[in-house]
Formats: sequence, C-alpha cells, structure tokens
Amino acid sequence: MYRPLISGIRKSGSGFSHSRFFLAALFLLSLLVLCLGGCQRKPSAASAQISDVGFFFDTVVELRLNGTDKQDLIDECFRKMGDYEAILSRTREGSDVWKINQSAGEPVEVSDDTAALIELAQKYYELSDGAFDITVAPYVTIWDFPNNTGNVPAKASIAAARIHVGSSLLHLDGNTVTLDDPRSSIDLGGIAKGYVADRLKEFLVGKGVESGYINLGGNMLTIGTKPGDVPWNIGIRRPFGEASDTITTVKVDGLSVVTSGTYERCFEKDGTIYHHILDPASGYPVWNGLSSVTILSESSVDGDALSTSCFVLGLDRGMELVESLDGVEALFITDDEELHYSTGFPRDTDSATSPSSF
Ligand code: AMP
Ligand code: MG
Repeated sequence: MYRPLISGIRKSGSGFSHSRFFLAALFLLSLLVLCLGGCQRKPSAASAQISDVGFFFDTVVELRLNGTDKQDLIDECFRKMGDYEAILSRTREGSDVWKINQSAGEPVEVSDDTAALIELAQKYYELSDGAFDITVAPYVTIWDFPNNTGNVPAKASIAAARIHVGSSLLHLDGNTVTLDDPRSSIDLGGIAKGYVADRLKEFLVGKGVESGYINLGGNMLTIGTKPGDVPWNIGIRRPFGEASDTITTVKVDGLSVVTSGTYERCFEKDGTIYHHILDPASGYPVWNGLSSVTILSESSVDGDALSTSCFVLGLDRGMELVESLDGVEALFITDDEELHYSTGFPRDTDSATSPSSF
C-alpha cells in the first residue's frame, strides 16, 4: 500500500518533535529550491548552441548544432568534408573523379561513396530524360565558371565537345567505372553537396544531435526543429539580389532545401547572362526564363539532383516531374520574379516582409 514518505519518517521514532521535524523539512525544502534555482541558471549542454564556418567544394559551408557543446562533432564534420572533397573534386589531382577523367577509356576502381554517387547520378539522368547529365564535364571545363568573367567560348569548341557528352558513355559495375570515350569526363558539381550533407546529417544524428543545420553554400539540410519545437525558417534568395535579400521563406522541420540558380556562377556579356547550369544537348547555359529552382525533400542528394534537373527541364516539364514524385515539393522562380509553387509546397504567406532568418 502507498504510504506518504513523511509518515514513514515520522514512524521511524527518531525522537523528533513535530515542530522540529517541520523546521528540518522546511530547511531541506529550501535547500532543494536553491539547488534547482542554481541548476537552472548554470548553462548546460542541453541549452548550448555551437556553430562554425569553413570553405569546401568552392563554397562557404556552415554548421550549427543545438543542444550540444561538443565542438569535436563539428571538427569531425569538417574533416569528413575534406575527405569527400579529396575523392569527388573534378580538379583535385588524385581524386576518384580526376582518375576517371584521366582514364582514357580504361576501367577505374573508385570508393564506395563515388560509386554510390555515380549510381544516383545515372538514376537522375534517366528520370530527367537526360537533362541531368554528369558527363557535361567537357562543357564545364570550357566555360570554366566561376573563373570565367566574360569570355564566351568559340562555337566550334563547344560543338567539338558535344560528341563526348552523354551518360550512355558512362558505365558503373560495382565500384568499377568506365567511360567508353577517352575524351569524355564527369563532373559531380550538380549532386555532390547534397550527398555530403546527407552523410554529415547521418553522422550527427548517430551522435545524438537532434537540432541543427548543415549549410553547404546555400544548400540547407536541417536536423529536427529549432529549440522549443519551432520550425526552421529558411530564406530563399531573390535571384540577383544581395545574398541576404530573400524573396520568400519556407518553414521546415528536418527537410532539405536546395536551390539551383543562374546567379550563383555567371557573367554578363552584351546583355546576355551566361551561367553554370548547362544544357547537355547544346553545351550552352540553359535560357528558359527561369532564374532559380528550389527543391524541398527529405534527402538532400535528391534535392540537389532535382534542382539542377528541373532547372534544365524548365517550368512546365520540371513541375510535371516534381508533381509525379512523392515527398518532393518545388518553387520555380522565373526571370520576372514570379513564384511558381508545386501543389504541396508549404507557402509562407507573410514572407514578403520577413527578413532572412533561420
Ligand atoms: P547546381 O548548383 O546543383 O544546380 O549544380 C550546378 C553544377 O552542376 C554546375 O556548376 C556544373 O558543375 C554541374 N552541371 C551543370 N549543368 C549540369 C547538368 N545539365 N547536369 C548535371 N550537372 C550539371
Ligand atoms: Mg544540384
């Protein structure tokens, strides 16, 4: 039978009088209150927030973790980013991608991560009807964004590259990669950041992180919500505006928000904007009236591949693709700054006046 604790003490027959007993109890209670008050004021790991920035994949990256003060988690993420860059970079000598591009048609053994990414890229090549194609690398080399500040390549050089482009020339068998054409090459710039963000989130969640974000040059992958169960409020950039100028915001909880935009890497020449999202069929930047495409999805690699794919496909075909997929929503922004949402996109009705904020 349940007995109140206080009666149990009283029954112990310690010789306390009633008034002494209550004085002692009051003293103990006040100690407890003082202790609890003290504990609340002391900063704890649970209320901690840590963040750091670095530079990887040619872009500024930022990590924020809530509810932990373990800087070594952030350090480990930066170390992992360095490792991924060392295998996935097209320009880093000795990387898996560099080896594939130097292979002159010979099979190359690559790491599990590179093989997984190439397999995903092939999947999106099929899904996008060839709009997403990592064998655009010969064009990427010719255009050389972001280093190119105004040289439009000769038509003949783009035409000459065209026959080396096409993911049907690329084969993956286990971890062995073969390019049929010795002058073909691959570039994972349209998909790698999303993949890396997913791996980092996996690592952090495995370490018990429940709240934070991974921002790889504007590719945002959130973990949980902000403290207090408040969703993250992610700003979507106004194309060609300042970095802090948002055209709208979106509230998310654990989702990835990835944008492909013309303004990210581009130059203007004679009134034409030349940018880094290339049409595999022509070798030229995609000019279809779009300025950016933002994808919301669970996995960031899907968002990354789809934002590039949908950009190349254009508003109508891109929207059709998004509407055909479960768990994916999109915002297409046209050159006239019109916003075109997929049906399930969580619109932020009062965002026009909201500042960019997380
Ligand atoms: P994102 O910013 O994710 O849209 O990726 C753009 C980057 O992907 C470019 O800077 C190129 O490295 C690469 N890329 C350009 N066009 C394509 C394409 N059609 N398919 C796949 N990757 C592309
Ligand atoms: Mg992409």
